[in-house]
Amino acid sequence: MISTLLSRLRIWDGEHPHTGDAILVQGERIAAVGSSDELSADTTVDCSGLTALPGLIDAHVHMELNPDDRLPPAQTDLSVAAKARMRERAEAMLEAGITTARDLGGGAWLELTLRDAITAGEVAGPRLLCAGQPITCPSGHCHFWGGEAADTAQADAVIERQLDKGVDLIKVMATGGQLTKGSDPGAAQFDLATLTHIVQRAAAHDKLVAAHCHGTQGIHFAAAAGVSTIEHCSWAGKAGWAADYRPETAALIAERGTWISPTVNRGWQRYLEGRNQQMRERIQGNFAAMRAKEIPFIASTDAGIPGVYHHHLPLALPVFAQIAGLSAEAVLRSATSQAALAIGLHSVTGRIENGLSADLLLVQGNPLIDLSALADPAQVWFRGRPVKSI
Ligand SMILES: [Zn+2]
Repeated sequence: MISTLLSRLRIWDGEHPHTGDAILVQGERIAAVGSSDELSADTTVDCSGLTALPGLIDAHVHMELNPDDRLPPAQTDLSVAAKARMRERAEAMLEAGITTARDLGGGAWLELTLRDAITAGEVAGPRLLCAGQPITCPSGHCHFWGGEAADTAQADAVIERQLDKGVDLIKVMATGGQLTKGSDPGAAQFDLATLTHIVQRAAAHDKLVAAHCHGTQGIHFAAAAGVSTIEHCSWAGKAGWAADYRPETAALIAERGTWISPTVNRGWQRYLEGRNQQMRERIQGNFAAMRAKEIPFIASTDAGIPGVYHHHLPLALPVFAQIAGLSAEAVLRSATSQAALAIGLHSVTGRIENGLSADLLLVQGNPLIDLSALADPAQVWFRGRPVKSI
């Protein structure tokens, strides 16, 4: 098996700075983390000046969606050109240092085909976990993707269809969304009994559930039903966006250990630039209140929605740190070890540790001091192979 030693590095292992300065890559895996003076390999690469961290994880993307489209698609574009664009997105993500992503919805399972081609090594791209068609209520959020369900029997049918196609998890739209005309982001789309049924049904097939939630009632139901991740978590209500934070719901989230995937993309910079001071205060106040309850966050962007590009997670993380009031290290954990834990891949990736996949991002400087170091990777390794070299 071919081995490579990445030597004279600064290493941040996904949780903490590591005392070692070398990573031994053997085949697809990390074989050792230790000292440059003690480890050896077929090839040694001097990485002086670089910091190694685990490849990044974006917990919420849509490979199918074109960020340049201003409106949601009436139906999935099945053309050869559309499929080629999906592959281009995947390749750009990998080059940016995103080695794993969770796809939370499409209409025709094209992202599953892409996932399998990446796994087979036919296409360059990150490891993908895919949800297929999200379960939604009739005419509900993203109904155009085909996952409408009016009751538990219809929800079962949607789940069954996704399982047949080979999804990795189930996605449910627990509230309306902004992208779909006629759906109300503040309103719950399913009652607690239906959501609980969906989570149990998925669990019977060893699948986790990700729930799209803007409104507070939907957030509460999703946490109570036992979903694994709450997407967006916008605390929307009658008083407006981010204006309906409820301590009892946050307490439930903390108690259940539900992960929050707030989809803070780089465009949220607009809140930091002060044009909407009130909204900024509300959003930052909600994050502060959630932090006080030690609710765990994972990094995500909702890439594919208008203006949000698939390879921009590294640019979103500094914005996420400021919006959510997190240290650089906390944000890096949310995009590596914590994300891997949340999406069920902690025994595969998310840390620099013996036996895990050699998914590595090498950057100039120290991202623990300045997250902007992530913007221009020096090298990316995926499953033991270099993706991009200096
Ligand atoms: Zn989404």
